Amino acid sequence: MPLLLAKKIYKRYPISGGYFYALRPCSVSFPSRGLVAIKGKSGSGKSTLLHLLSGIEKADGGEVYYQQCPRKQRKHPLLGYEASIVFQHYNLIEGESALYNVCLPLLMRGKGRGNAKKILVDLGLNKLIHKDVRLLSGGEKQRVAIARALASDPTIIFADEPTGALDEVNSETVMQTLRQIASSRLVLMVSHNEDLIARYAERVIEIVDGSIIADQGSVQAKDSHPKEKKYAHRRSWIGRFILRNIKRNAFKDAMCFLSGVIGFSALLLSFGFLVGNMPAMEAEMTHSLCYLSATVAKKSIIEIPGSAFTLVKQVRPEADEVREVLTEIGEFDVADDYGYFLPSSMTFRVGEDVFEPTSFQGIFDITLQEHGKDMLFEGEFPRGAGFNECVVNKEFLDHFGADLLGKTINIASRSVLTIGSKQQEVFVEAGLRIAGAVREFGFLNVPRVYYSFHQARNYLHDYKIEDENGDETSLAELVEGAEPDGIWGNYSRQLFFHDVAQIDSLFSWIKEHPSSDIEVNSISYGLHESFSSLSLAFTSSLGLFVGIALIGLCLILGMASYSSFIAGKKENAILTVLGARGKDVVAIYMFEATFLCLGSAIVAFCLSPLLQWILNLFLKGQFDVMGLINIPYEAYLGVRFLVPIALFGFALALGLLSSFVPMRIGKKMAIVEELRDE
Ligand code: ADP
Ligand code: MG
Repeated sequence: MPLLLAKKIYKRYPISGGYFYALRPCSVSFPSRGLVAIKGKSGSGKSTLLHLLSGIEKADGGEVYYQQCPRKQRKHPLLGYEASIVFQHYNLIEGESALYNVCLPLLMRGKGRGNAKKILVDLGLNKLIHKDVRLLSGGEKQRVAIARALASDPTIIFADEPTGALDEVNSETVMQTLRQIASSRLVLMVSHNEDLIARYAERVIEIVDGSIIADQGSVQAKDSHPKEKKYAHRRSWIGRFILRNIKRNAFKDAMCFLSGVIGFSALLLSFGFLVGNMPAMEAEMTHSLCYLSATVAKKSIIEIPGSAFTLVKQVRPEADEVREVLTEIGEFDVADDYGYFLPSSMTFRVGEDVFEPTSFQGIFDITLQEHGKDMLFEGEFPRGAGFNECVVNKEFLDHFGADLLGKTINIASRSVLTIGSKQQEVFVEAGLRIAGAVREFGFLNVPRVYYSFHQARNYLHDYKIEDENGDETSLAELVEGAEPDGIWGNYSRQLFFHDVAQIDSLFSWIKEHPSSDIEVNSISYGLHESFSSLSLAFTSSLGLFVGIALIGLCLILGMASYSSFIAGKKENAILTVLGARGKDVVAIYMFEATFLCLGSAIVAFCLSPLLQWILNLFLKGQFDVMGLINIPYEAYLGVRFLVPIALFGFALALGLLSSFVPMRIGKKMAIVEELRDE
């Protein structure tokens, strides 16, 4: 019973118009010991036969049996288990010691160092056990390779031109070694060196043009076959190869790590901006002195008889009506709108200088006790004693000059009243000293002057004119007694809220009642809406860029894994023939890619609070808004630690995927292509 048997195996390659047979169908068998040589000219098919027998290459037809078991039914390949192989060009793991090279097949099986040292000593290599194999001579390297092949105590050793790269003296030593080994196991070697074969081989198979033409000599072997061994698998050796890999790719990996850190940081910060910008803006929006004021008007629809059109008129609503409609907003003041005599846009004069029309706004509390205490940045709070003081915003000072602070601005509004049949001109004039300036939320803000609504009303109460009967009346009384569609009532009323929290409900109310008869207008709401749409546009385009950046990150990390895999292809082929499983080799690259992805995500995560702080400081300088970026570390959407969990989960998946995908693509690589001796 032969140990190894091939039945009608062949190998062919397609060429134009048919096939080229590297090995024609041949059958051959081998006993359990002896030095068998395969000889023939270069290109005759010797290596092909050896590869088919050892299983590195798959035959196109026929079958190879080991101990009568066909190859297809075996649990594992021959190589790395029952057989080892020695190459012409050694294929040692470079950068490692001779001892480590010999130990490696043992480590893969969980056998520690086994008798690796003894094998090296037996082969006369005791002086270079700890030497890096790169420093050894060709003969020494080949003997280390033979020692490595022996380490796992195989029943068969394949050797492809083991002396092909050696000088005469070294060739002799190697042949003596092989002959000695062949006394207890099968050594199947390929050589074209007739002389060596004649002197050492016990049996010689000759190949010419892919066909066995001679098979001479015989080996005496007992029929007792080696027992089937049990093979354990260990992964402890992988760590060293992960490190080797990272060391070999140090620069590239460092660059990828850096791009990972940058990419993940950008991702986190963009997300922080997405989450943080609107709340930060909303908090900042309250920093406006007109935040608590609004005006309210009512739509009145007039049917035009005989026409398909209706007329929509703005009229002044009654206070009770307004309160009833806006009950959900809570308590607020409804006041008259004196805008007819004090319009919201007026020119003003300082001394002889006349300035362009500017926004004027009456507010409930000019002493800034109720809202905006902390906004004053220059000057002082007005005392609120009369209609003679005002507050301006920073935009006003920036626009008209900071030297206006403390000066008195003179306003004058002229209106023509028709009372009964009498027309009279009314000049409302006042001098308002700029007591202080406030810093408001700057987005879309314009220069504004704030005066006291109450002082203005008192002032208009004191402004007397004659009515149609010749009786005295005041401008304020005209406004207060105005009909709903009377021009003096300015067709609207003023609303004053006293709690910043009410404004949220006011905004929601406005949003939810777009076609209500009662129309509320507020400067802050307009601002809020423009900022919301801006933020939406900004964050969605940011999302697009982040998406592109993420794809880039995936490609970079995928490329890194793939190039590592390509760079390590030969080593992987060596590991495979030494008995490493496919999974183990994949694990080496998975670790590298996962280390890159997860590592850079962790570093980015740890750096992000600092980056967020720096960026927020910068953004505060630019936009005057604090906390625009706010990464929700603790909880998001009600889930605790969702951000770190999602980030690390994503990084892990990316790492596994970016190594797995290229490896699936690269799996078809033939080991034999990598280890070809040329
Ligand atoms: P040698 O006897 O020198 O070891 P080989 O067994 O390596 O020869 O090759 C036998 C023949 O098969 C050669 O002519 C070689 O060119 C051819 N051959 C080997 N591999 C391939 C391949 N992948 N594609 C095409 N031809 C190949
Ligand atoms: Mg060859």
